[in-house]
Amino acid sequence: MSRTAGVIERHRDRLPFAPEDPVVTLGEGSTPLVLAERISELVGAEVHLKLEGLNPTGSFKDRGMTCAVSAAVREGAKAVICASTGNTAASAAAYAAKAGLRGVVIVPDGRIATGKLAQALMHGARVIALRGNFDKALELVRALADRHPIALVNSVNEFRVQGQKTASFEILDDLDGRIDALCIPVGNAGNITSYWKGFVEAGAAPRMLGFQAEGAAPLVHGHPIAEPETIASAIRIGNPARWEEAIDAMTASRGAIRAVSDPEILAAYRLLAASEGVFCEPASAAAVAGLLKYGADGAERVACVLTGHGLKDPDAALEQAGAVLPCEPQLRALERLVLE
Ligand SMILES: *Cc1c(COP(=O)(O)O)cnc(C)c1O
Repeated sequence: MSRTAGVIERHRDRLPFAPEDPVVTLGEGSTPLVLAERISELVGAEVHLKLEGLNPTGSFKDRGMTCAVSAAVREGAKAVICASTGNTAASAAAYAAKAGLRGVVIVPDGRIATGKLAQALMHGARVIALRGNFDKALELVRALADRHPIALVNSVNEFRVQGQKTASFEILDDLDGRIDALCIPVGNAGNITSYWKGFVEAGAAPRMLGFQAEGAAPLVHGHPIAEPETIASAIRIGNPARWEEAIDAMTASRGAIRAVSDPEILAAYRLLAASEGVFCEPASAAAVAGLLKYGADGAERVACVLTGHGLKDPDAALEQAGAVLPCEPQLRALERLVLE
């Protein structure tokens, strides 16, 4: 298999695509699984990081999007549409551009990270800022896609789940099938649903440990949250589309869905960057924050899904990072700053 093959070509036997079907790919998937030495020490377990930020548009959404957009082309759709906290928009825009389809993305007004907005615009999508939160945006695009020949590529789209489950196959391959628990941030709950589906299909059953931000934790509280709030914009969702499936994944795997606070998320975010060399976005750090807070629960081998790249949200990073050091153009001055 070519190094550049995407998830459909790599896993066609386990995906709903025939050999003659059109494939819209940017070479997604096959992301690194990296041992996290410092975090392993802190947790007392072998902890691996699945670097999903290394997908073509910088998040795991590309795994599902190659499937959703390929299926849309197969069905003769003329446009794809999604409501998005950002990464789905960036991914849909890129794959629509690759397929030659119109891409339309609806983003909650003013609440999208800078990098994601830049991506969606650069890929030529029509970007619509809705005066309302994510949940309202999703409700409206669902109604729109019901009335027009437009493919809805949100995670309610079954092909998204199919594509995203391939990450489980990769983790099992890399760990020779031995994994006790998976830590994963939960927003709309499409990804936890997908991972569990992938594990079940492959005959594995690690505990699914999902983490939501405290201010956006409907699955933890057992009811929708009208005004979800968290620094982790990718999981700022108050009424997950895949609520039932997420609860099923948790129950069937004897896992848990728990909450972490924004300060805990940001601490993990900084730790990952400064101690593991991995720059992810705040939402991704929720998985590691949860593992650090609640422990490995007896698991010996854990994988944390780092869902998106840190460059997506430079503003969040700069608020957390130390200051730049100004220096006069003289050797003495430079020496002092470098050596002291
Ligand atoms: C979409 C997304 C999530 C949440 O995934 P769900 O499938 O909505 O639960 C988490 N982190 C990042 C970076 C995302 O883009």
